[in-house]
Amino acid sequence: MAKQWHTLIIGGGASGLAAAVFCARSIGGEQVILLEKSPRVGKKLLATGNGTCNITNRHADLSHYHGADASFVASVLDAFPPQACIDFFESLGVVCSSREEGREYPLCEQAAAVLDCLRLELKTLGVTEQCDTAVTAIRPENGGFAVVTANETLYAKHVILATGGAAAPSLGGSAEGYTLATALGHRKTPLFPSIVQVKTDTTFVKAMKGLRTDATVSFVQDGKPLCRRTDELLFTEYGISGPAVMQISRVVGDWERRKNGTMEAVIDLLPALSEEALMAQLATRPARTAEDFLTGLLHKRIGQTVCRAAGLSLGDTVTDYRRLAATIKRFTVKVIGTQGFGGAQVTAGGIDTHDIDPITLQSCLVPHLYLIGEVLDVDGDCGGYNLHWAWASGYAAARAVSQ
Ligand SMILES: Cc1cc2nc3c(=O)[nH]c(=O)nc-3n(C[C@H](O)[C@H](O)[C@H](O)COP(=O)(O)OP(=O)(O)OC[C@H]3O[C@@H](n4cnc5c(N)ncnc54)[C@H](O)[C@@H]3O)c2cc1C
Repeated sequence: MAKQWHTLIIGGGASGLAAAVFCARSIGGEQVILLEKSPRVGKKLLATGNGTCNITNRHADLSHYHGADASFVASVLDAFPPQACIDFFESLGVVCSSREEGREYPLCEQAAAVLDCLRLELKTLGVTEQCDTAVTAIRPENGGFAVVTANETLYAKHVILATGGAAAPSLGGSAEGYTLATALGHRKTPLFPSIVQVKTDTTFVKAMKGLRTDATVSFVQDGKPLCRRTDELLFTEYGISGPAVMQISRVVGDWERRKNGTMEAVIDLLPALSEEALMAQLATRPARTAEDFLTGLLHKRIGQTVCRAAGLSLGDTVTDYRRLAATIKRFTVKVIGTQGFGGAQVTAGGIDTHDIDPITLQSCLVPHLYLIGEVLDVDGDCGGYNLHWAWASGYAAARAVSQ
């Protein structure tokens, strides 16, 4: 007779790995199996924080999470606050260190070390890790589940769906989890990319391709400012990127899917100077043509582009300081959309949380099925909030199945 596992976890990403450790610590690793479709677990985890893994954030609370029901995450966060996350990783041997804005990273700055420590713990606990195994169907059967893969059918009392979202397909992102859940009656809210690069009109932007500068970026829909962020901005061939853009790009993804109204990026290229101070500075600058008028104040290529955007030719003498100052403080580009799921770090939208118990993350439609991580309609801000949700939701489901 085929073995019946106590808990079968689908997806060896951040949430699935955490759930496996927590389950195994409670009920014993020999009763837990983790299935991963890729040849190795944790591919996306390795890429987090540019390979350094922004593990959590000390400010992880409701205000940093989004979804159709933004309050859904409250109980899970309460049960697994940032300190619990830091303690969890310390228990695995990962020493954390604090950085700006509450961000926590492994002291060794290696995402690979975070993955290694999770995997070493799973090995010590005796959890079965089975890669190259894509789950194609989940069938409720005899009070448990038959879980279908290409080669075999496995049986389990509890199933934890930890298949992640559609973002970053090159790192394992896929829509498979949504298909598995909707086949069982779950609803899905519209998906859109978040923490993503933004495509804009490139008339002026292209000339600044490759340049980075500190700036304040605001996204303005139909003349109404929606959000702003002061940080590093990167100009690219297709538009704008860098932390100043990625951090607040969610509104662009949301706008793009609705396709209503216009969206602009309004960029303050000198956030350290008020417009009046900038006017005074421009009025005392050496009398050079537009080609070099701003050289020494802004990057030369940015300065020239700003002059052209203000209606000057590079050979012109600059006299209209007010107009130039306004262009520097409110350099405006038309937004076209995002770079899509291919460039996104996170999927906004997902399995509707109205059908999920907010404490245990058990499905309200299918007993003993749990959904965790990014497959749910939960996404966090940039800064460690998404991984925090992955660990915390893994903890919540593991605690529930272990009772
Ligand atoms: C480049 C990049 C950098 C990031 N940096 C950070 C950061 O520093 N801090 C932060 O908080 N967040 C970061 N994120 C976001 C974070 O990585 C995700 O939110 C998090 O990994 C989601 O965890 P998850 O377990 O839900 O999904 P995933 O980590 O995506 O794991 C899902 C797993 O399920 C597997 N799977 C899918 N379908 C099946 C199936 N049918 N059968 C079997 N297995 C399946 C996938 O192969 C995958 O391994 C980053 C994301 C990207 C792309």
